[in-house]
Amino acid sequence: MSIVILGGGIIGLSTAYYLSRADSPPKIHIVDSSPTLFTSASGYAGGFVALDWFSPSVASLGALSFRLHRELAERHGGSTKWGYAGSHVYSLSVAERGASSKRKKSKEGKGEDWISAGTSRAQVAPSKGDMVNPDGSPAVWTPQIGGTLETIGQPEDCAQVEPRELCEFLLEECKSKGVELHLSNRATGVLTDSGGALKGLQLQCTDAGQPKVKELECKSVVIAAGAWTPRAFKVLFPQSTLRIPIEPLAGHSLVVRSPRYKTPFVNTSKRNISGGKDHWMCYAIYCAPGRHWSYAPEAFARLSGGGETEIWLGGLNDPTLALPDISTDVKNMIDPESIRDLRKTTVRLTGLAKEGNEVNQDDLESIREGLCFRPISQRGTPLIGKVPDNHLGIKTGEGGVFIASGHGPWGISLSLGTGKVMSEMLTGQDTSADIRALRVA
Ligand SMILES: Cc1cc2nc3c(=O)[nH]c(=O)nc-3n(C[C@H](O)[C@H](O)[C@H](O)COP(=O)(O)OP(=O)(O)OC[C@H]3O[C@@H](n4cnc5c(N)ncnc54)[C@H](O)[C@@H]3O)c2cc1C
Repeated sequence: MSIVILGGGIIGLSTAYYLSRADSPPKIHIVDSSPTLFTSASGYAGGFVALDWFSPSVASLGALSFRLHRELAERHGGSTKWGYAGSHVYSLSVAERGASSKRKKSKEGKGEDWISAGTSRAQVAPSKGDMVNPDGSPAVWTPQIGGTLETIGQPEDCAQVEPRELCEFLLEECKSKGVELHLSNRATGVLTDSGGALKGLQLQCTDAGQPKVKELECKSVVIAAGAWTPRAFKVLFPQSTLRIPIEPLAGHSLVVRSPRYKTPFVNTSKRNISGGKDHWMCYAIYCAPGRHWSYAPEAFARLSGGGETEIWLGGLNDPTLALPDISTDVKNMIDPESIRDLRKTTVRLTGLAKEGNEVNQDDLESIREGLCFRPISQRGTPLIGKVPDNHLGIKTGEGGVFIASGHGPWGISLSLGTGKVMSEMLTGQDTSADIRALRVA
């Protein structure tokens, strides 16, 4: 009997990828309501990956995932295929006029609630290294008057990927193993046998012109529909009193190219981090809200396929934006004012500084604008595991209905580990990471 995964973002794809590599893998179907993949968070995210920036309940999954990112990149040339490279990480504080610019340490210590608190991810990073002299920083970051750069992460324990390219790689690998993709489809009903046990799903085509209904046999269902997960669950189990505590949080982003970042940075320690011969590395910069911006910008000088250089900038979130029905609808919701704000920040952070000028010159080439929705869980950690049958109103026997969602701002980093543990749960094995605290109910 087969397994159906609802959602073809990075979590659904990672699950299908590891499942398709299991001993005697089941037949795997990925169902996605969108006509094209990667128009969601997994296609527009920054691609920051960390070893140990997580709270204790996520630490084991975070470490597993970091190792899997590195191993996958080493085995499949990830540095050239999806821009995998170790990352140096700075925290930037720009002093209010006359004020000290020292980074404030989070009172809570490491945690995952920085995003809802509207502060910078840098506040939960392990503090490492000394203050960095602005003159010694890479030219891609424009020196800031009154600014202090502090090193908060190193290529040994931080990395970056181009998330869309990683997703494309996973998809191709899944297809090569016979994983079947059903685009423009959503599951609208559960099929049970005469004993009331799960035997499949009813799918409905989401293309207006094609109101087709079809059935897929399966013993297990994984709901990995990102911010749409609660909706997908509700449609399948309308009688259930279980509420999936995941909310959407919209974030705009920009990708640009800069004349000051034309070739990949080379890791001078020559450590072969990505397994490629190029020893490439990336730079990330996290900024606290301050004099030049009211939000917490994060910018990634990263690589995309073949060693192309680009800068991703985001951090401007909008909790008022409602999640649309289909992820391709998101592109019509991009707010020009938010993009203008981001552009201003981008020019401030990476534009051309002219001596005596207060404002940097915008000599950046636009690559793309983006908007996408993070699946934020109320408890601040992902939900990974089986939904108990008593919450479903059906029997699932050896199979089950699983949730793999709510990764919030960390879905790219935690993707491969989530896929691995999901594949282990679905095939009845012990999990490679301790995810007991991430259970669903
Ligand atoms: C601006 C921004 C920057 C980010 N930067 C980072 C970062 O640097 N590092 C990091 O680790 N994380 C980052 N994240 C978070 C990360 O992008 C997400 O956590 C992750 O992409 C979530 O993946 P997903 O597969 O769960 O969801 P998604 O990527 O949203 O995929 C969900 C899929 O489900 C499909 N779907 C919806 N409804 C249904 C349905 N009913 N049936 C079937 N399919 C359905 C959608 O079409 C979509 O393809 C960022 C997020 C944002 C918004």
